[in-house]
Amino acid sequence: MTLSARLDPAYHSVMPGVAWPAIPAPAGMAMLAAQFQFDRSQWWSGEVMRAAQFRQLRRLIAHAVAEVPHYRDHLARAGLASIAELSPATFLDWPLLDKREIQADAARFEAASMPPAHGEMREVTTSGSTGEPLSAATSDAAIFVQHALILRSQLWAGFDMAAKFAAIRITVLRDLHPDWGPPTNAVFRTGPAVYNHIFADHGVQLDWLLRERPAYLLAHNTNLRALLERSRREGRAPEGIRAVVGFGDMPDPDTRALAKSLWGAEFFDTYSASEVGAIALECPEHHSLHVQAEHIYLEILRADGSHCEPGETGRVVITDLQNFAMPLIRYELRDHATVGAPCPCGRGLPVLERIVGRSANLAVDPTGRTYFAHLNMAFWTDIAPIHQRQVVQVAPGALEVRYVAERDLAQEEIAQLVGALRKVLRYDYEIEFRRVAEIALSAGGKFDDFVSLLPPQARGGV
Ligand SMILES: [Zn+2]
Repeated sequence: MTLSARLDPAYHSVMPGVAWPAIPAPAGMAMLAAQFQFDRSQWWSGEVMRAAQFRQLRRLIAHAVAEVPHYRDHLARAGLASIAELSPATFLDWPLLDKREIQADAARFEAASMPPAHGEMREVTTSGSTGEPLSAATSDAAIFVQHALILRSQLWAGFDMAAKFAAIRITVLRDLHPDWGPPTNAVFRTGPAVYNHIFADHGVQLDWLLRERPAYLLAHNTNLRALLERSRREGRAPEGIRAVVGFGDMPDPDTRALAKSLWGAEFFDTYSASEVGAIALECPEHHSLHVQAEHIYLEILRADGSHCEPGETGRVVITDLQNFAMPLIRYELRDHATVGAPCPCGRGLPVLERIVGRSANLAVDPTGRTYFAHLNMAFWTDIAPIHQRQVVQVAPGALEVRYVAERDLAQEEIAQLVGALRKVLRYDYEIEFRRVAEIALSAGGKFDDFVSLLPPQARGGV
């Protein structure tokens, strides 16, 4: 279904006396201008989309080569005499960008200047799917596109913007908001939004859902799966939830079926990264994950560096087409994905079949609280030069932090990290730090951000 078929009388008009057709504020007009373009570009053939992507990519690369120290000699390194020679084939020779190169010297990746209309440089922190903390930067212009894709996801998921929205997040400023906030409130007169904290006990989160009865719930997939499990176990189901949107970790295969059978809710899958926002969103008509090609040039690479064909699984490499603040060009996410066949819906946006990324166990504390230990915070790199880390629960009241770094952490750094972890995890755990040469992947080939060594019944049964 296209945007035009979902025209909603609750558009947010700011023109006195004119409710319809709505005349939104400039931010809303810009959001709708983006949706108008997305509504067309989603149907483009792969060939037309790639041509548009490379038109944009050449502009990004001209900027990066001129303004960003790291990229100064990259045309030559890719064997290109000029930007005009850039194509999907020649781009394969452009060096891949590893997260650790940015960790080592982020300043080399920042643009000396960018066009003033791109706005401010904004810091984003991430640990991605590999537990490697990173501070990157993006621009207001790139965030505009990220926001436009959030609105697209809500339109694709068929949200009724007048209903109540709920989210379980890492940062909660207020529990209740009169509207859904940006970007949605720039275009629609939305219903209220309620927020709960990711570190709240899942029983507390379930009580909150039963009380609030939101129509939509946004949550990390691991948190969502634990909530569904808790709901099933306790025989308590919130009423009125029409759809749940999962993000972050890879959803369990049964999340969709559980959401439907327990809550009567549809599941809408997304694939995103803190550095760039949405990478792929679930099709409005099928369960395919469509790459958001207007924002991300996504490559799935074989071991030899060539592009995978449908059905093949390879490394995910992305280029953010609009970030002029810290251009991420052929940036390795360290996720693996399978290239999907074209979606029956007819959209030309590429399809990802399966993403193998981070997985996580649940955490507990001795008070009986079970929660998802989301560890994507800025303090890791703010306090100490850590390349990678994994938190292991060794006892209900004790954690071990395994870390990879050039040197052992100083006692002062460890004390600060212990303090920060106790504060965000809301319990004064005993915490040991152990430097390791590397952190092994799990048997399934995934990186585990948080590992529990407790028996399943001692960590919430999930
Ligand atoms: Zn589709």
